[in-house]
Amino acid sequence: MEKIDVAIMGGGIVGLMTAREILVRYPEWTICVFDKEMYLGEHSSGRNSGVLHAGLYYDYGSLKHRLCMEGNQLWDDLAQELNVPMKRCGKFIVAREESEKETLEQIFEKAKKNEVPLFRKCSEDEKNDLNQYVYCWDALYSGRTGIIDQTEALAALKNDITARGGIILLSHEVNSLLFTGQSYQLGFTNQLQVESQYLFNAAGLGGIELRKMLQLEELENYFVKGTYIKNSQKNPFQQLIYPVPEKGLLGLGIHLTIDMAGEMKFGPNTQEISTPSYAPDLEQLDQMKSGVRRFFKTLEVEKLGVDYCGIRSKIKLKGLLYTDFWIQSPIKNYVEFLGIESPGFTSSPAIAKHGLRLVSL
Ligand SMILES: Cc1cc2nc3c(=O)[nH]c(=O)nc-3n(C[C@H](O)[C@H](O)[C@H](O)COP(=O)(O)OP(=O)(O)OC[C@H]3O[C@@H](n4cnc5c(N)ncnc54)[C@H](O)[C@@H]3O)c2cc1C
Repeated sequence: MEKIDVAIMGGGIVGLMTAREILVRYPEWTICVFDKEMYLGEHSSGRNSGVLHAGLYYDYGSLKHRLCMEGNQLWDDLAQELNVPMKRCGKFIVAREESEKETLEQIFEKAKKNEVPLFRKCSEDEKNDLNQYVYCWDALYSGRTGIIDQTEALAALKNDITARGGIILLSHEVNSLLFTGQSYQLGFTNQLQVESQYLFNAAGLGGIELRKMLQLEELENYFVKGTYIKNSQKNPFQQLIYPVPEKGLLGLGIHLTIDMAGEMKFGPNTQEISTPSYAPDLEQLDQMKSGVRRFFKTLEVEKLGVDYCGIRSKIKLKGLLYTDFWIQSPIKNYVEFLGIESPGFTSSPAIAKHGLRLVSL
């Protein structure tokens, strides 16, 4: 059996950030990231909106709030160091009619309480500008919101980890785990066996199955799919445009994001599913088109087509939706990162630091 210092299950943004953070602190340790897929970014980290969130929506003091604010800040230096394309493009949150006034005010108050920097109400001029393209009754602006190239971020982290002596093994699916009282024994579908002093569970949608192998039972998955739609119409926007989220929605509402190339896309919508599948569901398309039509005045909605899908890794604790990140160390030298839905990409540099604190690394 191979012996290593640290085993990280899952090579998404959280697993890779964790590997890098440990290598920075303990350059001589043997650190292995295992991922079941042949390529990085096959799950949430490659199937999201690519937005660096500013921390507006989350409950004050929650992990989502604190780690999002810290992560948003940390990406400034990190993106530069790793040469990852990133842009502080800003974001408008737009109420289309007076009935949304109360929700807009609640967002404003929450952002103020959360001490989100560069957040403000929009001027009349800004609202008039927005009104050319979207139905805008009132609006807020967040200057710390940005966009990042997720694929480049994953690739840059992979290179950085490898250059620091870390090991990333793709096509390595963990299928058995045993805690001996001193260390962790990992078994893989390809028959490899590894013994590690520390174990990190950053397996996203697969994380709950893995913790069950350690007799940790109280969490269950709750999968919520999000579909994106796009086309190649000329993009008149420099900023991201979000509607006011409808009450009880499992996401932020169909919004417009732009990527580093300036291309626009809409989504993700929310669709509860029982078994994970990224296959586009064409039934979602019509519903999403009418959401876009309700909000965006000038787009030729007929030309929009399905782009890609992602699945939010929501979790339930004893049957109830658990709304914060679940970052815990229920067994010695073991940390689990579960329920890492949005704003997980933004928060990832801070999530890694938080995880290491739990095991005094
Ligand atoms: C639709 C959508 C939109 C989002 N938009 C944003 C956004 O704009 N901004 C933002 O900050 N966040 C966003 N997020 C959230 C963000 O994408 C996630 O929080 C983040 O990617 C989670 O990373 P992860 O490493 O935990 O999981 P993942 O990226 O899912 O990585 C987990 C990895 O574990 C591997 N794995 C699973 N089981 C095993 C096993 N048994 N053995 C080995 N490997 C295994 C998988 O192959 C996978 O690569 C969005 C998420 C979704 C779904």
